[in-house]
Amino acid sequence: MKRISFSAISAYMSCPKKFYFQRIMGIKPDYLPSAFIFGGAVHEGLAEFNRGRREGIVADVATMMQAYYHEWRKRAAEGLPIQYMRSESESYLEALAERMFRAFLDFSKKSGEPFMIEEWVRAKLSPELPKFVGIIDLAEYVNREVVITDYKTAGKPRQHDFTQMLLYRYALLKSGCNGAAKAKLRYVTLTKEAQPRVIEQWLDDPEFSQERTGRIIKQYEQAYADIKAEKFDRRTSWQCQYCVFAEACRSHKPSQSLHN
Ligand code: SF4
Repeated sequence: MKRISFSAISAYMSCPKKFYFQRIMGIKPDYLPSAFIFGGAVHEGLAEFNRGRREGIVADVATMMQAYYHEWRKRAAEGLPIQYMRSESESYLEALAERMFRAFLDFSKKSGEPFMIEEWVRAKLSPELPKFVGIIDLAEYVNREVVITDYKTAGKPRQHDFTQMLLYRYALLKSGCNGAAKAKLRYVTLTKEAQPRVIEQWLDDPEFSQERTGRIIKQYEQAYADIKAEKFDRRTSWQCQYCVFAEACRSHKPSQSLHN
């Protein structure tokens, strides 16, 4: 592995075998979960809104929906079947995205000056690790302070742990961003409820976070050492029922060489 990312290491930690199918073998998943493609398309709508802000334009719902459709079509063109949750359908999700964008526009009136929108950050987090890469949803100056935002979509309000954001802040700091050391971190969650809500969750506790960031990097070093040692055991859990590599997992025998 020449690079690591939050999603790669999270995938490894949740199930090393799944990581192996996805990241080492490059096996195509059995299907695309609708939540995955929906989340990506909503992200594009939000990025379009923030790009407009940078130019002094307030995007409307129709503009955000154009970005949503574009991303949805791009993912659908990959040719994998899309698996919808319960009573969901493509048109149900489109209507939901519109309601979510309306809720977001009401929420986003108070804002700063964006300087990164859906932009890559790349940095070496430790000598033991290859380069870390990630996409920052939004970084902006608010009252001269840096605020880094990550957008989430979720069925209902939930608390996020700040692992991903702490790493992104540290990567920004290592890549020379002014003000990153004290950047405030927030998740903005758009709920998929009938009446969508927009919920902020902040972390602005730099001293505690520095120690926590150090611990996370140690965990990443361990995970990376395990990947290099080709430790790719199955980790069965409730997540197996939603696993997009279930077919490969069933047919792959434990005694089979990993590189066959
Ligand atoms: S089905 Fe379960 S054990 Fe198998 S790869 Fe998926 S998550 Fe891992």
